[in-house]
Amino acid sequence: MKKFSIYLHFPFCLKKCNYCDFLSFPCPFEIEDLTDYYLKELDLYFHKFGKRSVPSIYFGGGTPSLMKPVWVERILKKIYDLFDVIDNVEITLEVNPKTVDGKKLYEFFRAGVNRLSVGIQSFDDEELAFLGRVHNSLDAFHILDMANKYFKNINADFIYALPNQSFEKWQNNLEKIKALSLPHLSLYQLIIEPKTYLYSLCKKGKLKPICEDIALKMFKYTNSYLKSSFSHYEVSNYAQKGFESFHNLNYWNGGDYIGIGLGAVGRILEGNHIFAVENPKNIVDWKLNIDRGCLPIKTLTKKSRARELLIMGLRKKSGINLCEFKKNSLCDFNDIVDNVKLKKLLDEKFLIYSNNHIRLSVKGFYLLDAIIREIIK
Ligand code: SF4
Repeated sequence: MKKFSIYLHFPFCLKKCNYCDFLSFPCPFEIEDLTDYYLKELDLYFHKFGKRSVPSIYFGGGTPSLMKPVWVERILKKIYDLFDVIDNVEITLEVNPKTVDGKKLYEFFRAGVNRLSVGIQSFDDEELAFLGRVHNSLDAFHILDMANKYFKNINADFIYALPNQSFEKWQNNLEKIKALSLPHLSLYQLIIEPKTYLYSLCKKGKLKPICEDIALKMFKYTNSYLKSSFSHYEVSNYAQKGFESFHNLNYWNGGDYIGIGLGAVGRILEGNHIFAVENPKNIVDWKLNIDRGCLPIKTLTKKSRARELLIMGLRKKSGINLCEFKKNSLCDFNDIVDNVKLKKLLDEKFLIYSNNHIRLSVKGFYLLDAIIREIIK
């Protein structure tokens, strides 16, 4: 049976963070229950693509931990009714520490969630205030304690390379992070994206991004500091053995997935066609589409999909499996790269070819974006 992973986007947050360019709306009053629409959208996928096997489900946002556990339970029941959910399915829910307590975490666990991804970002309260987070470091420690009671599989997100962040401050944060002994960490360098509050400060000359050399020094230090306990399996992701995120690996490897909820996207291979679904980014249009029974599906060219897989695949330590690449994009790797530049980078050992995989060497990993720009055509 063919398979796809399912992503569900819950777009509301308590407050917009200063660095956030995700599709999310501050919602300080009553949180809208979108469950009926999610269920209808799942029906549309069932009618379009039939019964598929489901290896992973991901509730992302926004802040899906603002959902009531009973909403999550209804959605999961629908997925189990329509599709063939595998026995060891990975079901992740993103959590903001300010939106849950022990009881609510337990109810999510009872509803079927078996992996948490907790957005902590920093253990330094000044940094949390700078980022515009609604929680402080004590909230974060408290929620991790609670989460450990019910969940074995926990990820925590952190952001570093903040403007004015000293190397020592990140070292200090990293010590606390490692001491948590969590099975999975996502450690992102801050990118100041357009349309964010931090970007507006930069524009006014009130803020300057961190110098690239310090950011690189932090990245290298992070990798060596975590090396003994974690596999650095993707540029920003570190996992203990067996705790790599199945859901994210499916994206990076080019597997099929559907996206439920406003702004959600999907990629589905059917026969000789690659379908892309991109949902409207406002609630009214998204609901209207669903009421009309319409999924906004378009066909993606093979080369476009191949380029996506190149960009994501090189982010992984294991690199790109060229057989899988061809199977998932219906396109040869050589057709989307400048082969002269590729050979040069292989000769200079920035890239490595072995066992039908192309991957970055250690020195190549630090030049990821530049290498992708160089070879992609
Ligand atoms: S909680 Fe996450 S999605 Fe919501 S505003 Fe903050 S960064 Fe964005």
